[in-house]
Order: sequence, then structure tokens, then C-alpha cells
Amino acid sequence: MAAMLQPQIILLKEGTDTSQGKAQLVSNINACTAVADVVRTTLGPRGMDKLIHDDKGTVTISNDGATIMKLLDIVHPAAKILVDIAKSQDSEVGDGTTTVVLLAAEFLKEAKPFVEDGVHPQNLIRSYRTACYLAIEKIKELAISIEGKSLEEKKSLLAKCAATTLSSKLIGGEKEFFAQMVVDAVIAIGNDDRLNMIGIKKVPGGNMRDSFLVNGVAFKKTFSYAGFEQQPKKFLNPKILLLNIELELKSEKENAEIRLSDPSQYQSIVDAEWNIIYEKLDKCVQSGAKVVLSRLAIGDLATQYFADRDIFCAGRVAEEDLLRVAAASGGTVQTTVNNIIDEVLGTCEIFEEKQVGNERFNIFSGCPSGRTATIVLRGGADQFIEEAERSLHDAIMIVRRALKNSTVVAGGGAIDMEISRYLRQHARTIAGKSQLFINSYAKALEVIPRQLCDNAGFDATDVLNKLRQKHALPSGEGAPFGVDINTGGIADSFANFVWEPAVVKINAINAATEAACLVLSVDETVKNPKSESAQGSCCKCYGW
Ligand code: ADP
Ligand code: MG
Repeated sequence: MAAMLQPQIILLKEGTDTSQGKAQLVSNINACTAVADVVRTTLGPRGMDKLIHDDKGTVTISNDGATIMKLLDIVHPAAKILVDIAKSQDSEVGDGTTTVVLLAAEFLKEAKPFVEDGVHPQNLIRSYRTACYLAIEKIKELAISIEGKSLEEKKSLLAKCAATTLSSKLIGGEKEFFAQMVVDAVIAIGNDDRLNMIGIKKVPGGNMRDSFLVNGVAFKKTFSYAGFEQQPKKFLNPKILLLNIELELKSEKENAEIRLSDPSQYQSIVDAEWNIIYEKLDKCVQSGAKVVLSRLAIGDLATQYFADRDIFCAGRVAEEDLLRVAAASGGTVQTTVNNIIDEVLGTCEIFEEKQVGNERFNIFSGCPSGRTATIVLRGGADQFIEEAERSLHDAIMIVRRALKNSTVVAGGGAIDMEISRYLRQHARTIAGKSQLFINSYAKALEVIPRQLCDNAGFDATDVLNKLRQKHALPSGEGAPFGVDINTGGIADSFANFVWEPAVVKINAINAATEAACLVLSVDETVKNPKSESAQGSCCKCYGW
């Protein structure tokens, strides 16, 4: 009875919400599984898309794990980790974002019965880490290098990787067409690391197949003044002048206060203003440039002046486009028109202004340094083009990764099945509980082929059993077998060119294991009540 009389110890502020122990862990795992259930159906070539709309009326249709996770606005603290790994997978390798979420959730799901049975999470974490290490070593061993091949061969291999990425997207129907385009674009920019050197321009209308690649830069015609119509719209090998200055008649009185004692002096000021602009324009013309672009406005006077001298001009060009023209044409953006030397002028084989759908486009092609490429995307609805752009982004990232790391593995769940088999086999050599945990990890990897089947309406159990049997062949010839998305059976993914860069899988397995371990290592969450100290009052005192 004495215990009841002891004063209660209050540690945290009133209103603090804590939950801890096994129950907390299980609830975190449940939350992660719920999140994975949202993206589950989007995996693979037969995956479904999600339509997400917010209260502002923005509608996004997407198949991309990272995009969906970002838009979901998840508030659960543990489940947020999954959003983070999807994002990091997106920025690190660009593809495999659904895969990473599914894997992490599956690792946790497999761990749940053990946690409920009282296994200490640290034991699970240790085994998961070992399994992850083994899996990655195995992927590296199985990966096939595309190094040392000729450019043509490399291009066709890369196109296959891009096609695999695109096959799960809305534009999957035209995957060969776009895969080729993406590979050409990536090869065009060479070793340049800046992704924005590949521009994607969206022009609603027309057919997907009307999309095209410009080996150079293309951008929408900028706002233009009267006189523009008289300018020539096509040049061969023009010199290009890039500016970051305004070519407008400026009222100098806006910038400075001028006091006049004699009204006749006013004319001299107006004249000076005209002289300033004419001098600038003269210098542009003298430079020999046939195309003048500026990031800032080019006014009506300048437009007419250039038109009279058969020069093309465009003002208010977006900075990104101007920089890409600079990189492609070999020119340098100038902030003054004084002393324009030949070296700062760029050039290209053909410059022309063309009609694309309802828009006019300025197109610079055949650029000497060729470090840029632009994909002009066509298609019906806005949401469609937006999703097409996201899909191309994935494909571009994949091709770049494959080009850099130059190893590929078989997709369609083949690599996942093979690692799963390997880990199960390895687990048998381990004594102790760890055997069970590594086995569970191996089982979790099967989620990828299983989900590919489920999403395509195949009998997953049937296909998985066939796959297990094939992969268990002692000769190892079954290793590249994965789900055949066309027939509902199994097929050699490698022979069918369902290829993925090894780095996608390595990164996905690494990130998913890390996330699962992170969630497993949390056994208590504390939610602080709204900080009251912000209002100047200290915590409530209960007479201590
Ligand atoms: P993620 O966001 O993870 O990239 P995707 O929806 O792009 O998800 O699906 C990728 C999965 O689909 C990979 O496991 C890949 O191997 C598989 N896949 C892609 N194309 C095919 C195909 N033609 N046949 C079988 N599997 C495929
Ligand atoms: Mg993908």
C-alpha cells in the first residue's frame, strides 16, 4: 500500500504523447505497409497510374513512385522515412522509386512476426545488414559489363535499358521510339554532368510520335515587337551574339534626376538617350552577328533596327535556354556590347524559326560543341505530357547511370529471385536465429516479381513457383529468368532485353534495408505538446 502513496513522478510536459515498446514498433511497421500499399499497384509495365488532385485543383497523373510519394503528403513520422528513400532514389539514380518503397515495406512486414514474438530488433537489424551486404556483392557478381563495346553497340544496349524503364510508363507503347531519342540526347551531351543540358519542351497537341529531338537548342519564340515579322527566320552558319543587357530606349530621367535651367537643353537629353541606344545597336551589328539573343528585353526600336539589317533577334530568353545556347554554340553571354570579339560569338549550322503545333519555335541545330540536346514533346492532354516528361527524366537518368557505371542486370524480377535464392542457400549455412531472419529477408525480395504478376493479372503463386524452380537449377542457367509480362509465364529477361542498370538495384536494396533498419530501431515516439514556453510561460508546476 505504501507504493500508492508515493508521489507520481512527472517527467514530461502535460499533453505529451508517448508510446513505446513492441506496440509502437508494430504500429510503425503497419504504417509503412499502408504507404507501400498505395504505390504497390504502379509497379511494372502493367502497373496502374495514380491520379492525385489537391484542393487547388491541380491534377497529376503519375506512375512514378517518388512523384506519388511526394504528393501524398504523409504525416506519419515513421512512414515519412519511406517518402525520403523514394526521393533519394529519385535523385541518386532516377528510377526504381516504387521498388525501393515496396522492398522497405516488405522487409518490415517480414520482421513483424518476429517482433511480435519478442525478438530483439537489434538482432533483426544485424541480420538484415548482413543480408544486404551479401545481396549487393551478389548483384555485382551477376552484373554484366557493357564496357569496351563500340559506340553503336553501346547505344543499342543503352536503348534497351531506357526501354525497360519506359515500359512501365504511360508512353510505354512508344518505348522504342523514345528510348532511341533519350539515348541520342544523352550521348549528345557527352560527359557534361549538368542534367539541364538536356532540355525538354512541351507542346500540347499532335501525336506522341510527332515528338522530336533537336541536336542543339530549341525554345519557344519569345515575345516580340513590331518589325519582327520583317526579320529573316532562317540562317545557315550564323554568328550568334548572346547578351544579358536591355536593348530598349530608356528614359534616362527614370534613373537620374536632371535639373535644367534652359528648356532648350531638354532636346539634348532626349538626343543623348537615342544616341546611347543607337550606339549599342551599332556595336551589335558591327560584331557580325546574325542572331542576337538577350536575357532581357529587346524593345521595338531595336527590333526594327535589326530587321532593317537582316538580323534576327529575340529578347527575354529564359536564362536556362540562353545558357544552353551558349554551351552548344560555343558563345559566351555578354553583359556589355563594348569590344565584342569574335571568340565570344557562337555559331551553329542551321538556325530557324519553325512552327511546332500551335507554337513558333527558335531552333539551333548542328551546334559545334554539341553539348546540349532538346526533346520537343508532343501529345494530347497536359497531364499526359507532364507524365511523359517525368518518364523521360527517369529514362535519361537511367541511361546516364548505365553509361557511367556500365553494368546491367536482368529485370522483370529476375535479379531479385536470384538474390533471394542465393540468400536462402546461404542462410542454411548459418547456425542460430540469424538463419530465420536472413530467410525472411530473402523472402521479402520476392515481392518484386510477385507484384509484377499481381499487377498484370497473372497467378503470382504459379509464376513464382516456376521461377523458384528455374533459379534452383544447379547449372545456374536459370539466373536470368524473370516474369514474362506478355504471356504470364516466365522468360529469360536478359534475352528479352529487359535490362536495368545494376546501380538501380544496388541503390534500391541498400536504401530499403537502411530504412527498414531505421524503423526497426525506433521503439519509442514522443510527441511534444505545442511549446508553451514560446508564449513566455514555463512548464506547469504541480507543487514540486
Ligand atoms: P520503379 O518506380 O521502381 O522503377 P516501375 O513501375 O518502373 O517501378 O517498374 C519497374 C519494374 O518493372 C522493374 O522491376 C523492371 O524489371 C520491371 N519491368 C520493366 N519492364 C519489364 C518487362 N518488359 N517485363 C517484365 N518486367 C519489366
Ligand atoms: Mg521505373
